Amino acid sequence: MPQSDGERPLTQYDIVIIGGGPSGSVTAYLTAKQGLRVCLIDKANFPRDKLCGGLLTKRTKTLFERIFERKWDENIITEKDEMVMFSKNKFPEGITQSAPLYLTMRYDFDACLLDMAREAGADIRTGMKVSAFDLANTELTLASGERLSYGCLVGADGVNSQVAKLLYGESFNRETIGFALELEVPREDMPEQGDIVEIDMSPCDWGYGWTFPKKHSFTVGVGGQHRKNPDMKANLSRYMAGKGLDMRAYKVKGHFLSRGDFRNPPGRGRVILVGDAAGLGDPLTGEGICNAMQSAEAAARALVESLRDGHPNSVLQNYQRDYNEVTKTLKYARVLCWLIYPRKIRRYLASFYTGSGRLQRGYLDILSGELEYSALFALFAGQALRALKSLPLRLVGIRRG
Ligand SMILES: Cc1cc2nc3c(=O)[nH]c(=O)nc-3n(C[C@H](O)[C@H](O)[C@H](O)COP(=O)(O)OP(=O)(O)OC[C@H]3O[C@@H](n4cnc5c(N)ncnc54)[C@H](O)[C@@H]3O)c2cc1C
Repeated sequence: MPQSDGERPLTQYDIVIIGGGPSGSVTAYLTAKQGLRVCLIDKANFPRDKLCGGLLTKRTKTLFERIFERKWDENIITEKDEMVMFSKNKFPEGITQSAPLYLTMRYDFDACLLDMAREAGADIRTGMKVSAFDLANTELTLASGERLSYGCLVGADGVNSQVAKLLYGESFNRETIGFALELEVPREDMPEQGDIVEIDMSPCDWGYGWTFPKKHSFTVGVGGQHRKNPDMKANLSRYMAGKGLDMRAYKVKGHFLSRGDFRNPPGRGRVILVGDAAGLGDPLTGEGICNAMQSAEAAARALVESLRDGHPNSVLQNYQRDYNEVTKTLKYARVLCWLIYPRKIRRYLASFYTGSGRLQRGYLDILSGELEYSALFALFAGQALRALKSLPLRLVGIRRG
């Protein structure tokens, strides 16, 4: 209900969400559906582009159907069933698989989610910026001068989160953050590419290159840990040259990449963070949309519980419980990164990895969302144990040979 404080109007909400990507829209949709007064603010006008490969896994599809209780729009999402992986170090190399993968353009996908949040009753304000936060008084002021008050505030504003910066002094940790470059290549420029989803482990350190076939173009990119890839442009240029393309002919865009260095606790007081703002991008696969939606689902549960009970101060505690489930997988992913990404280890273990079809399949199954990290971890451990057991025999063989 609008109130007046001198000249500036004050509008009251139960929840104000900053950011209208997947994490913000899902939070808004689920909480508005429960009858809470929700306002979502995004600085962009929608539909808007978001730099992203747009690869969605089966995990994301299942989550989408659970949250929105409907199938997703097949006009904006296409299904692919072949993936190929390359690496100069031959791990894992040239494997295709048939588990379904889904590809979308974020221009369409995010607008669709935001529309559903609006239909659920959330007050959606796009093309709007916050000029000042007053955390002590649970208020904020929009660039238009309007003031909003809230029971709880949600930071869903992505990797460069203004809300995270407000809480921690910086949006992300510069030591661990990733960086990616991406461009769209018209289909006619790569007539040989076909419809296969391609991952190439060689262009980057602690990351990879990708070519994702879309309806009208290929989304081509390289991304990895920022500190370990000081010249990402050169990485992209090499990757493109390998395809017979000159990077300079295309519009290249860059964006920081959340890589699993998640915030814990994910907020402070009545402020909670979801999605990339909380650092929930997967460091091994680069996937972030699924965790953005899953954390938003958890946040919505905590918001409804806390605000219904009249205890907005307990929102962080309620959120933490389910948040730990999201971050559990990231902990596995972080350890697996150390077994897969360092070049020296990769070279040393190349034969060990390539010798195991199950291990390669497991890695691909993680990418497609068919397998949970705990299962891949068990596969790695089992394979390593077998390799250790056979070591004495192999050493004898080497000496005799
Ligand atoms: C190059 C690249 C490729 C990727 N490829 C994939 C992929 O193939 N599959 C996958 O699952 N993930 C991928 N990701 C990760 C994925 O994009 C993110 O994890 C996901 O977008 C996170 O969703 P989110 O809602 O948390 O944040 P975002 O999608 O970033 O949304 C944040 C929103 O907040 C708004 N905003 C930001 N600041 C403010 C502000 N101050 N005030 C108001 N609004 C604000 C922005 O306009 C934006 O709409 C990729 C990322 C990059 C960089």
